[in-house]
Amino acid sequence: MSSPDEIHVPASKTAAIVGGGPAGLIAAETLARAGVAITIYDQMPSLGRKFLLAGRGGLNLTHSEDLGQFLTRYGDIDPLLRAAIEAFPPSALRAWSDGLGQATFVGSSGRVFPTVLKTSPLLRTWLLRLRNLGVKTRLRHRWEGFDEDGNLRFAVDGKDVSVVPDVIVLALGGASWARLGSDGRWAAILAKQKIAMSPLLPANCGFTAAWSDVLRGFEGHPLKRISLSFGGHSVRGEAMITRDGLEGGAVYALASPIRDAILKHGETMVAIDLLPDVALAKLGERLSAARGKQSLSNFLRKATHLSAAALSLVREGAMTKGTNLATMSGQEIAALIKAVPVKLTGVQPIATAISTAGGIRFSELDEHFMLRRYPGIFVAGEMLDWEAPTGGYLLQATFATGVAAAKGAMDFLRNPSS
Ligand SMILES: Cc1cc2nc3c(=O)[nH]c(=O)nc-3n(C[C@H](O)[C@H](O)[C@H](O)COP(=O)(O)OP(=O)(O)OC[C@H]3O[C@@H](n4cnc5c(N)ncnc54)[C@H](O)[C@@H]3O)c2cc1C
Repeated sequence: MSSPDEIHVPASKTAAIVGGGPAGLIAAETLARAGVAITIYDQMPSLGRKFLLAGRGGLNLTHSEDLGQFLTRYGDIDPLLRAAIEAFPPSALRAWSDGLGQATFVGSSGRVFPTVLKTSPLLRTWLLRLRNLGVKTRLRHRWEGFDEDGNLRFAVDGKDVSVVPDVIVLALGGASWARLGSDGRWAAILAKQKIAMSPLLPANCGFTAAWSDVLRGFEGHPLKRISLSFGGHSVRGEAMITRDGLEGGAVYALASPIRDAILKHGETMVAIDLLPDVALAKLGERLSAARGKQSLSNFLRKATHLSAAALSLVREGAMTKGTNLATMSGQEIAALIKAVPVKLTGVQPIATAISTAGGIRFSELDEHFMLRRYPGIFVAGEMLDWEAPTGGYLLQATFATGVAAAKGAMDFLRNPSS
């Protein structure tokens, strides 16, 4: 990583890191290297639980695309987040992982993973490194806000514990997968302190659809190599049929505008091209051929090579259009396969979403990631108001803001009045 040890702070300064996910841990490492005495507080019995879960999908740490393109993934990116990622870019995250003995590789999609494709070895070595840097850990400490003197207040075994550090880094995560510790309860605490926040909403999430019993029977079946379209944008990838809707990479990539449309209108339509590599005219030609004695199902299966789940979706799409395949021409069926309409009726609950949109607005922070109203309190990670698709963008922003908040805290310790 870029050398945080360049800045040294006066001895005997203390920092409390509240939240021991990747944002809190990298902030702890950065500050500990500068000589600050660190204690990490977390409400769970162990650190980095969601980070460990992310390892189940291979731990997509970051992405290899060029930085300009990379930054576009955060939409209308706040200049603060941009500066943090530019200061701690994907190359720095990969070098940091290398430094922990976890070399990375670029997958065929450009995504970056550690070669072992899981979190546990990296997290184990990281926690050992932190211990060697003198970082202390206080588990089962639930942050509950501030006491009358403005000190941090934790609930520990039913008792109140107050802590008075020189600086604080809040890194409490989003609100998805609450059972892993990130329950978003900090939002109510900070709202009381008049910190402006955007509502915490599911991001990179699935959606519900009013499936027929037939389609529901295809729960768990993937729709591979599709193109999903919504609001003028199309994404290639995979989707998964769930019991009551759709999830998967292509869905997550468009989840933000789909979610916003459903929240506004109650439902919305997406279109799925089940054969994006086959031209409409060619498919129409194939499906207009005489089918002889074959049943329509057999004919479609042989002519399109689509799975039973995909063909079921096509049938359901015909019904959505108020028609059925038996009365459609080959050209019409081809057009349907190239744009199956699917009505999405709801957003998957935040509990099972991969990430959280919303959080503390960047306008509440100064250029050092410090809360303007609360000098000495810094914020990092998913609790900030940014949103990005899967692809390594979540962890990259988490790490980059963790480093930025820690550097801000170092500057503050060196010169509290600046
Ligand atoms: C299934 C899944 C797969 C994912 N895969 C990837 C991936 O491959 N690539 C990627 O980039 N991202 C992935 N992510 C997202 C990534 O894990 C998160 O963006 C990242 O963990 C956010 O880090 P954080 O440190 O901000 O918060 P978190 O990791 O959520 O950590 C917050 C910490 O704060 C603690 N905490 C919260 N409230 C309190 C409180 N009141 N008191 C004390 N402690 C508290 C929690 O216990 C937790 O330890 C995935 C997420 C999920 C759910």
